[in-house]
Amino acid sequence: MTSGQVDRHRRVGSVEAQRALKRAGMDFETPIDVFGAIEEQQVWLLFQPLDRLYGAYRRHDTPGIVIHAGHPYRLQRFTAAHELGHHLLGHDLSVDSQDEVERQVATLPGQEVEAQAFAATFLMPVQLINRGLAQLGLDSHPSSVDPGQAYRLSLELGSSYSATVVQLRALGRINAANARELLKLSLIDIKTELTLGHRPANARADVWPLLREDAGRTLSIRPDDEVHVRLVESPTTGYRWRPDQPAAPIEIVGDEPVPDAAAQGRAYGAERTRHMWWRALAPTETAVAADLRRSFDPDAVADRFEIALRVLPTITGESDHGVSRRQLQLA
Ligand SMILES: [Zn+2]
Repeated sequence: MTSGQVDRHRRVGSVEAQRALKRAGMDFETPIDVFGAIEEQQVWLLFQPLDRLYGAYRRHDTPGIVIHAGHPYRLQRFTAAHELGHHLLGHDLSVDSQDEVERQVATLPGQEVEAQAFAATFLMPVQLINRGLAQLGLDSHPSSVDPGQAYRLSLELGSSYSATVVQLRALGRINAANARELLKLSLIDIKTELTLGHRPANARADVWPLLREDAGRTLSIRPDDEVHVRLVESPTTGYRWRPDQPAAPIEIVGDEPVPDAAAQGRAYGAERTRHMWWRALAPTETAVAADLRRSFDPDAVADRFEIALRVLPTITGESDHGVSRRQLQLA
């Protein structure tokens, strides 16, 4: 395919996604409910172990989509958007591995280029990208972002890390060298860095690094995901952040001052940062919180940090046979 043909296919996919977003009443503030959009189209949606495949679509008889049950949630969302693209673009059949879903390979047929562009626009429309970049305190065209920023943006978008990097590049928000560097990194290394060296217990789980300005937010997370909060305190006054005992099924995993080599020689009374983190064990709706107070005076709270957590059920069913999302909700 010539680059002109590729561009034409990309445009077809992207325009179809914009139409679908409009139909779905996208508010451009929260990630789109891609699985809901599939059900809206009355397309069968199944989660099954698929080995090396990411997903597949078939129109024959009753249209159906199957997604790899063993994949991380945000990758499942991106694959689902790709398969929904095949459906809405009028394709008949597609059996998709990583090349078809995630890679910009020159040999891809036109319908795959269209489905890729559909998925990118459907999950990561320009408005949502702008909002995500602003949320991270970044310019709308930052030219380059660091790995932690790219990862956090993928969390805000509800898309996979690599799809987020590819979309940032496609929209000209980061340069080609930056995109290449970001795509070389391993996700677990990025997560371990964001958690200050505390590798998450489940390597596939997401870690949400939060700061003071994130207080009051509501996060939608999955079982095994971790929320890491860093807050400033001044130890010599006796005031330190003390996490509330979380309600089950949330556990507090760690609560410690951040070791800061540069702070060793600092004047007495200097501030330091406390790192507290929680892990979700099962679906629930709850909050996690911490108070800034002295140990002997529980009522004199100088500050409070709280975020609401919606821990949604994982749809990576571990059964060997497929389960539809509707069946899971009824279970
Ligand atoms: Zn495909």
